[in-house]
Amino acid sequence: MPETYHNFIDGRWQAAATAELHENANPADVRELVSVHSRGSRADALAAVAAARKAFPVWRDMPAPARGDVLFKAAALLRGRADAIARDFTREEGKTLAEAKGETLRAAQIFEFYGGEARRLGARTFVADGPGTFLYSLREPLGVVALITPWNFPIAIPAWKLAPALVAGNTAVVKPATNTPLTAVRLFECLAEAGLPAGVANLVFGAGAELGQVFADEPDVRAISFTGSSDVGKGLAARAHQRLVKVQLELGGKNPLILDESGDMARAVAFAADGAFSATGQKCTATSRVLVPRRRHDEFVDKLALAAKALVVGNGLDAGVTMGPLVDEAALRRVLGCVDQAKGEGATVACGGARLTEGDLAHGFFVAPTVLTGVTPAMTIWREEVFGPVVGVTPYDDFDQALALANDTVYGLAASLVTNDLARALRYVRGIEAGLVHVNSATVGAACHVPFGGYKESSSGSREQGREALEFFTQLKTVYMDM
Ligand code: NAD
Repeated sequence: MPETYHNFIDGRWQAAATAELHENANPADVRELVSVHSRGSRADALAAVAAARKAFPVWRDMPAPARGDVLFKAAALLRGRADAIARDFTREEGKTLAEAKGETLRAAQIFEFYGGEARRLGARTFVADGPGTFLYSLREPLGVVALITPWNFPIAIPAWKLAPALVAGNTAVVKPATNTPLTAVRLFECLAEAGLPAGVANLVFGAGAELGQVFADEPDVRAISFTGSSDVGKGLAARAHQRLVKVQLELGGKNPLILDESGDMARAVAFAADGAFSATGQKCTATSRVLVPRRRHDEFVDKLALAAKALVVGNGLDAGVTMGPLVDEAALRRVLGCVDQAKGEGATVACGGARLTEGDLAHGFFVAPTVLTGVTPAMTIWREEVFGPVVGVTPYDDFDQALALANDTVYGLAASLVTNDLARALRYVRGIEAGLVHVNSATVGAACHVPFGGYKESSSGSREQGREALEFFTQLKTVYMDM
């Protein structure tokens, strides 16, 4: 029986108010139970908010560089433990060990970046209309912030919400996804050992709907940063807006990659395969629609299918595996359902399209990397996020049509163009409706020191990551001082 993990509230690991437990199995092999954790409820969420509120004045008044030092120490601990954390992460979420370690090191990098930002927080001064007036503005923390995170980046996303929130002087309650509590525990262990004062960051497990309501309604929660699915995010925001609390939403994507007439075929195939299949396609920035000039279409599809078939699907802990399982059975059913629906609506499977059950794969949620052709804007798969290793290819006749097709979605997170034509690249950068725009690189991947977020229904509220993240977690005070 694996260890039982509890909520982290007011600096202590505490069993939840109800004795209910939640079990998580390894998505690569459900015979392995990975963790058992407390199922938090409304009472635990309220206790966490109360602890964060109590801790706020002391943390807010601590000099920012001292707050940054805690992040630097936590980053060092994360780096030192990256191999062990990555193993737990892979067993819990399914990513390959290399992906899990890379993400753990990314979390450390995020802490380091915001640790440094602690020394760059500051006021702005202005000229005044009248004589003898000292006019300036300050950015102040908000108070208690609630951070709701998904399972697909179980360490990077909690880190990229927590680090700017904490360095700005807020205290926080994190609600991680039910599928990935253990990775969140490992992150919090590093923060606690780095000397984070009790109550400054709290971790509560539990059902999103129940805890989300507490955060939306509780007056002490001054902001909510949510990453997850669109419907859940919109519902949460509608409720929280009743009391005009700040809400930041990072939602879905339906990210296009355009190969243009001049673009390098091999690079386009490599970017499409990376974008569609890394992390088993479970990235908000995953490439899900590829637009290819009609005369290059068949060659592209053949090469992408070859790249898909070259992937080694299996348990992410095994050497040589390049694509892990989907996160759980519901995801497996959803992804296979999307493929069936696409076929029913007229798409053709060029490769993959089915569950993999050979040998030990039968015990996990494995799906073959899938390339669909004949995908059109009339199909459901054109519009709805699949969140699995499935990509559709669509031919186009001229570049304006490709750009219009790329923008034909309610989402606007990431986009990519493969070209050797500078004028085309500039036209695309201007015309594409996306917050993360790539030229000759894949739709996936994001540096921690630059703004991250989308256009249209992919995001709402100010950007995450980079210095911009500090805007969301602070409020402006303008001071007129007559000297
Ligand atoms: P999800 O919406 O099911 O869950 C996200 C989080 O919200 C979880 O912690 C969940 O427990 C919680 N939750 C569930 N119901 C809630 C409610 N009623 N109120 C408040 N919280 C609630 O999403 P998921 O399946 O964990 O993640 C996948 C989704 O996340 C995809 O749509 C993906 O595109 C999106 N995502 C977006 C980004 C981005 O930055 N744009 C990054 C990663 C993932």
